[in-house]
Amino acid sequence: MNRTPVIIGADEIRRQEDAAERIAALPNRPDSYHIVTYGCQMNAHDSETLAGLLESMGLEETPDRTTADLVLFNTCCIRDNAERRALGNVTWLRQLKRSKPHLLIGVCGCMVQRPGMADRILRQYPFIDLAFGTHNLHQLPSMLYELLTRRERVIRVSSEDTAIAEGLPIKRASDSKAYLTVMYGCDNYCSYCIVPYVRGRERSRAMRDILAEAESLLRSGVQEITLLGQNVNSYGNGTDETFPALLRALDEMGVPRIRFMTSHPKDLSDGLIEAMARGSHICNHLHLPVQSGSDAILSAMNRRYTRERYLERVGALRRDVPGIGLTTDLIVGFPGETEEQFEQTVSLVQTVGYDSAYTFIYSPREGTAAARLGGRLPDDVSSQRIGRLIRAVEEGSQEAYRGMIGTVERVLVESISKRDASRVSGKGTRGITITLDGGPEDIGKIIPVRIRSAAVNTLRGERI
Ligand code: SF4
Repeated sequence: MNRTPVIIGADEIRRQEDAAERIAALPNRPDSYHIVTYGCQMNAHDSETLAGLLESMGLEETPDRTTADLVLFNTCCIRDNAERRALGNVTWLRQLKRSKPHLLIGVCGCMVQRPGMADRILRQYPFIDLAFGTHNLHQLPSMLYELLTRRERVIRVSSEDTAIAEGLPIKRASDSKAYLTVMYGCDNYCSYCIVPYVRGRERSRAMRDILAEAESLLRSGVQEITLLGQNVNSYGNGTDETFPALLRALDEMGVPRIRFMTSHPKDLSDGLIEAMARGSHICNHLHLPVQSGSDAILSAMNRRYTRERYLERVGALRRDVPGIGLTTDLIVGFPGETEEQFEQTVSLVQTVGYDSAYTFIYSPREGTAAARLGGRLPDDVSSQRIGRLIRAVEEGSQEAYRGMIGTVERVLVESISKRDASRVSGKGTRGITITLDGGPEDIGKIIPVRIRSAAVNTLRGERI
């Protein structure tokens, strides 16, 4: 259930802007910054906001963390290894700080928001100067000002999880593609997932604010907007501002390409499928995480749909949205998963035929319901299962790719191909990477191509 969000007041935003101006005038302020981002698209977009805030304080981005005056780690805690990797990299910078005492090290994002982490940072990581949680991101200017003027560590983790900050500066990573957040937080409490504990309760932005941001992106020449939320399908729940209504409004505005993620299968409505089917600009791709093909495991995961319902939704999408490509997330080794239950996941993958999938071995997260379950699987069983599952996904994706040979795809060119400098690389509407002949002048353009051949994870096309 979406709650009516509290919009962070103009006074508070002004206070942060003042702090940013005062930092810009400080003689001892850092000149350069580097942000290291872990995790999902939400985090990548948060890093764009952090970059926008830092540039409003006069700092310039540097591509090399060893030359930066401020290094900020925007962390993820969805799996244990994401957290360990982030802490390992932060600790590595401690050496650098010995030879470069003015270096400032900051840590923020989901890992810092996790209960108990702020205390741990205080005690075990004395070289971290600045740490803040997901709900404190907009306060970066005042926190940095405090750090620079008082020369004391600043650690701030708020539990206020119903607020939305509008109007923050954003430094976007691409001129042609943009992320646009439509909602924050999640109320689903899937039993394995830490996100609701670190991103807070569901809250949606007002449609007028989203449309205003989309309009300004369109004016600046953006070709593709990806709408972001932990569960975009429940955007605006309980009001007229539904997700299908938002998609229709963006489609009418003429945004050349619209994508969105992530969609929870239990909230995939007929209205959303209809909006995708009728829209002229909505990409024929849906990321629809299934996690498991076993009803017993789905129930233990608190996913609130069955295998049958999921396959019914897939059938409706394939029927109504021409040429749709599906991608998914899969977890193996959930506590108590039997061989037969795992085989049900493999058979679901074979039935759906995904373009690609993110596959994960279950990672217990302290504080979640699943972390208290018995029946943990031995590592070798989970490793063997994930290998089999990856092979099943690859077989399906190869078949899907081969089926696209001879078809026409419209490619948004993103870069020069890494393997062949006479070719460029981008994504078709299904989200698959496609290469074609071209050069730097094509970057940022949408080019129609005929698909000529398929390789692993890539299609090769020819412009028409
Ligand atoms: S829908 Fe489930 S998996 Fe996705 S963020 Fe929410 S709790 Fe986590």
